[in-house]
Amino acid sequence: MDFTYPPEAEAFRKEFRAWLDQELTTEFRGEGAGFSMDMAPDRLGQLQRWNRKLAQARYAAIAWPPEYGGRGAGTMEQVVFAEEMHRAGAPGTLNPIGLSNIAPAIIEHGTEDQKRTLLPRMLRGDDIWCQGFSEPDAGSDLASLKMTAVADGDHFVVNGQKTWNTLGHLANWCELLVRTDPEAPKHKGISCLLVDMTIPGIEVRPLITITGEKEFNEIFFTDARVPRTALLGPMHEGWRVAMTTLAYERGTVANLHLSLRAKIQRLLDQAKTRGADADPVLRQKLARIYLEGELLKLVSERAISGAINGRDLGPESSIAKLLWSEAEQHLGETAGEVLGADANSGSWGRDRVYMRALTIAGGTTQVNKNILATRILGLPRA
Ligand SMILES: Cc1cc2nc3c(=O)[nH]c(=O)nc-3n(C[C@H](O)[C@H](O)[C@H](O)COP(=O)(O)OP(=O)(O)OC[C@H]3O[C@@H](n4cnc5c(N)ncnc54)[C@H](O)[C@@H]3O)c2cc1C
Repeated sequence: MDFTYPPEAEAFRKEFRAWLDQELTTEFRGEGAGFSMDMAPDRLGQLQRWNRKLAQARYAAIAWPPEYGGRGAGTMEQVVFAEEMHRAGAPGTLNPIGLSNIAPAIIEHGTEDQKRTLLPRMLRGDDIWCQGFSEPDAGSDLASLKMTAVADGDHFVVNGQKTWNTLGHLANWCELLVRTDPEAPKHKGISCLLVDMTIPGIEVRPLITITGEKEFNEIFFTDARVPRTALLGPMHEGWRVAMTTLAYERGTVANLHLSLRAKIQRLLDQAKTRGADADPVLRQKLARIYLEGELLKLVSERAISGAINGRDLGPESSIAKLLWSEAEQHLGETAGEVLGADANSGSWGRDRVYMRALTIAGGTTQVNKNILATRILGLPRA
């Protein structure tokens, strides 16, 4: 599945690497993931400044159309971008969910006014966005969501609860799915609202995770009056709007294998230093996670090569998600066996408990397997 980098992508690499060498000062380095959910205010300020630098140089979302601050970059430039950010250990933007999930929906379904006012601020990290989809009784079966929005003059009156809302404690904007027609079949009565989280009637309660961090939140809406201009896309067609994600972020699939393989390499090095690679059982486990990392790279490259040739990402993103999340967990287990008690502190300690969430977030393993069974293997729906 080898592909060569076209000259334009290599030219972009040179230009971007030079920019990073100059602009990525020690002040900004240190957290490659771009944001920790539990950021101290001074780190948030640093990342905001870094985000603005990226935006100013049109590097915050290179795949976006130029009129909204992007470069209309192709898939290979996006891959190069991911590789160079990873190589330099550069933080990403403050809006990982905003850029990959919410902006594509705004660009495709938004009014000109929504695009012009909301996108530049998201791009610069002036606003932080979260996604209010899941509810206590609506996760995998998202279309059964119950939060209501009732039209009242120029406003919707919103009531109900969201949960597992990543970044909600830092966010000031939310892409919210609400039920606007309780009589319609469940996928048809949903609308999508772009909600300013500072209006009265919205309460955010952080949930502390097993890592001890604030990552996601419950959000309670009590008679919150959201202006009708917040409607994204047509009324009752929120399901279609919500399904528009990743439209401009095809190259970021490379991020999964870049970060996983770097962690695998770190463990292999630590195993060698400690002589753990001499143990025949551990050797097999290390070989297995090495192969899982290489397999993920091949799957990512297949997806990228498909995107270059005009094929939709489709079920390949489910394969990549499945492989990546399970490989991360196998890596955590193997790190425990190789490093013993040392795997319970520092970044391994944090990662090893955090990894439990990866097979749930963004679609559970079981749901992904259902997608693969029906869409790739052609099996009947359960
Ligand atoms: C780290 C993290 C971040 C998240 N961030 C957000 C966010 O920002 N915004 C947001 O809206 N949500 C977010 N979520 C929520 C996430 O989308 C849901 O947790 C996920 O969709 C699963 O829903 P659930 O938790 O209600 O589990 P359920 O859907 O109740 O599933 C429970 C179990 O049943 C299985 N199951 C369910 N349906 C089927 C089926 N048809 N066939 C086979 N097995 C099935 C599941 O695989 C799972 O094992 C986040 C979750 C995590 C872990």
